[in-house]
Amino acid sequence: MKWSWKIARIAGIDIYLHATFLLLIYIVGISYWSQQGTLGAVISGVAFILALFACVVLHELGHSLTARRYGIQTRNITLLPIGGVAALERMPDNPLQEIRVALAGPAVNFVIALILYLYLSVRGSPIATEGLIAGDSSFVYRLMLLNVLLGGFNLLPAFPMDGGRVLRASLALRMDHALATQKAARVGQLLAVGLGLLGLLYNPFLALIAVFIWFGAAMENSAEQMKSLLAGATVREAMLHEFHTLSPEDTLEKAVALTLAGSQKDFPVGYPNQLTSILHHSDLIQGLKTEGDSARVGALNLVPITTADINEPLERLLERMQTNPAQVLCVKDKGQVVGLLNLENILELIRIHDAIAKHSNVHHRLL
Ligand code: ZN
Repeated sequence: MKWSWKIARIAGIDIYLHATFLLLIYIVGISYWSQQGTLGAVISGVAFILALFACVVLHELGHSLTARRYGIQTRNITLLPIGGVAALERMPDNPLQEIRVALAGPAVNFVIALILYLYLSVRGSPIATEGLIAGDSSFVYRLMLLNVLLGGFNLLPAFPMDGGRVLRASLALRMDHALATQKAARVGQLLAVGLGLLGLLYNPFLALIAVFIWFGAAMENSAEQMKSLLAGATVREAMLHEFHTLSPEDTLEKAVALTLAGSQKDFPVGYPNQLTSILHHSDLIQGLKTEGDSARVGALNLVPITTADINEPLERLLERMQTNPAQVLCVKDKGQVVGLLNLENILELIRIHDAIAKHSNVHHRLL
C-alpha cells in the first residue's frame, strides 16, 4: 500500500503502518489534551491506542498464521486507522479452511480478553460493567472490554469482514462459490447501510467503516465473478498467436515500423527459438529519444521475458500477476515461445465469456 512504512517483521511477515495512522494518534492526543489538559493524560491515551493496535496486529497474525497452515502466504499486514489488513496471497478455496482462517482473528481477541480477565481477577481488581462508560476504569480493564468488542464486531456477517467470510464459506458449502459470494456481498452491503445510518447518528467512525465494507463487498464480489467467468480457461484461449519478434541486431526503425503497422506494442527480442528479453513500448520511445532510430535493439536496456505455460489456468496466472506484475508474458509451449499475453487480452476474454453467459441466461429465462 502507498504511504505506508514498515515498522516490524513478525513471523516472516512485514508489518506496515499507514501514514493516516499518525493522524489518528494526533487526534487522540489532542482530544485527551482538550479534555484533561495534562501531558500524563495524553501519554496514557496514546499508549492505549497503541496497545489496542498491537491487539489488532495479533488479530491479523491469527488470520495469517492459520492461512500459512494451508500453504497460503501473507504479503504484509498494514495498520490503518480503521483497523488492520492482512494481505493474504489468496483465500483458501476450501470453505472449511476459509472458515478457520476467518475465525482465527476474532479468536485471538477473545483469548487476549480472557488473559486480561484472568490477570484482573488474580490482582483482585474490581470488574465492573459501568467502568468503560465512566472512563475512570483501568487501562487493562478497558483493553479487555475493547478486545471483546473487537472480536464481536468482526464477527458481524458483513462481508468482507470476518463474520461475512464465515457466511460466504458456509453458503459455499451448499452452492457455487461465485453465487455464495454474491449473496454474502449483498448481506454485507445491507449491513453497511445499517451501520452507516447508525454511524451518522452516533459515531462518524462507524460510518467510515460502513463505507469500507460497502466498497470492499463490491470489489471482492466483482473479483469473484471475474474468477468464475475464467473458470476452466487457460492461457491458450486468451493469448495472441500472431506476433512479431525482433533480433538484437534490428534497428529501432524496424521496431517503429512494426509498431505503426499493427496493434502489437511490445516485442520479444532474441534469436529464433531463443527469445530472452522484451522491448516494451515505453523503452522504445525512451530509446528513440536518447539513441535515435538507427540504434540497435540490442543496445537498449531490455527487461528479461516473463513466461507463462500455455496450459496454465488463467485464474492462477491472475493470482501470480498480482504478486509479480508483468506488462507482457511470453507464452511457452514445450520450451518455445508460441504467443504473447497481456492483461488486456485476459479482460477481453472475460468480456466475451460474460456476454455469452448473459446471452444464455436470457435464453434460459425465455425457455
Ligand atoms: Zn479479521
